[in-house]
Amino acid sequence: MSVFAVREPATAAGSRLGTLPADASGADLWRVLGAENRLAGVYRGNDPSRGVDAAALSTLLTDVDRRFGVGATLAVTVPLATCLPLLAGGTGPAARTLADSLDGRTVVALAATDEDSGCNLAALDTRISFDGDEVRLDGTKRWITNATACGAALVLARHRPGPHFTNFTWVLVPADAPGVRAEPAETELFDGSGTGHLTFDGVRLTRDNVVGGTGRGLSSFAAHIATERLAGALWAVSLCERVLRDTARYLGWRRHGDGVLWQREAIRQRWASALLRSRQHRALTEDLTEAVAGRRDTSAAALLKASAAETVEHVLDVCAHLQGAHGFRAGGPQYLRAQGALFGIGGGTTEVVLDIVAETAAESGPEEVP
Ligand SMILES: Cc1cc2nc3c(=O)[nH]c(=O)nc-3n(C[C@H](O)[C@H](O)[C@H](O)COP(=O)(O)OP(=O)(O)OC[C@H]3O[C@@H](n4cnc5c(N)ncnc54)[C@H](O)[C@@H]3O)c2cc1C
Repeated sequence: MSVFAVREPATAAGSRLGTLPADASGADLWRVLGAENRLAGVYRGNDPSRGVDAAALSTLLTDVDRRFGVGATLAVTVPLATCLPLLAGGTGPAARTLADSLDGRTVVALAATDEDSGCNLAALDTRISFDGDEVRLDGTKRWITNATACGAALVLARHRPGPHFTNFTWVLVPADAPGVRAEPAETELFDGSGTGHLTFDGVRLTRDNVVGGTGRGLSSFAAHIATERLAGALWAVSLCERVLRDTARYLGWRRHGDGVLWQREAIRQRWASALLRSRQHRALTEDLTEAVAGRRDTSAAALLKASAAETVEHVLDVCAHLQGAHGFRAGGPQYLRAQGALFGIGGGTTEVVLDIVAETAAESGPEEVP
């Protein structure tokens, strides 16, 4: 019997993804996936307005994760899970951008995080003002995936002062509109993701560019970020299982005395403890997938996001350590561990999602706590 208790994933037959170099960017992957019609395939009935087909999304993320870097996988995940569903059902620029995105001709960035307010979205400063049919946009978004590679950005802005949830609106902003500036983020950790900062300085748009209706920004963000959190949980399953497999392989050939490291009981137990955490996360993800994919249950999504962050941290920590100095090789598990910290930050920090979990439990009453 194999020591690799984690299944090797199936590969999409005949995909051109295999012809791309391992350091291909997310934008390159997006083009190929769109041309192969694999982007539409992650939605129920190939329709982004109907929510994701979690099995198809998981297959695609597993395929991408095993071949390409974290940055490229991130760059595919965010628009698939959040931007395209947000654009669905729209007309004019939203409908055209959605069609171009599904074909892989353009990629859309999701620009929610503001320069100063961070994960407290209700305090963001980026603002729009209306003048007849014209819309003016000003502000700065930081740490935005695909910022330097996108054809357009979906920008969360306020149209009224104050934290009330009806004060926020999405606008679709072409990357080449006068007044838009993109600069790369100061990091090498997410190469291929196009992560950067976007500045909007007196950008002039029309009301056609408002997406989902004035005042519906925060409510639709909450619904759609739930799908992104599910996507993150599915990606975490693939990532942890891949690293567990790689680590078991390494331990199976690394010499120790007359045998190999895998024969040491203490080492096998440490690896098995990481496998246990990975399996627990997989089981929770399978249990809550329908609640998020079908009903966009924000509390279930928050639980999945917290689980993904803690599981990735634990599994990568154990697996990197078990590989000794080999773990520090370029692109090895110690590097992956630094990248994996993103699971506890991007799309809402662990503290913020745990707050949602506690809030929902408190509203339901103690007898309903899962
Ligand atoms: C690689 C990368 C890609 C990203 N891509 C995108 C993207 O595509 N679109 C987008 O909009 N954003 C994106 N982000 C931004 C990301 O969503 C934010 O970093 C995240 O929401 C946290 O905001 P912040 O970094 O400003 O942290 P801050 O809000 O400054 O928080 C700093 C720390 O304070 C603590 N903290 C904050 N709030 C609370 C609280 N309520 N309770 C307890 N502790 C708290 C946490 O420990 C947190 O890590 C990306 C970030 C990275 C690193």
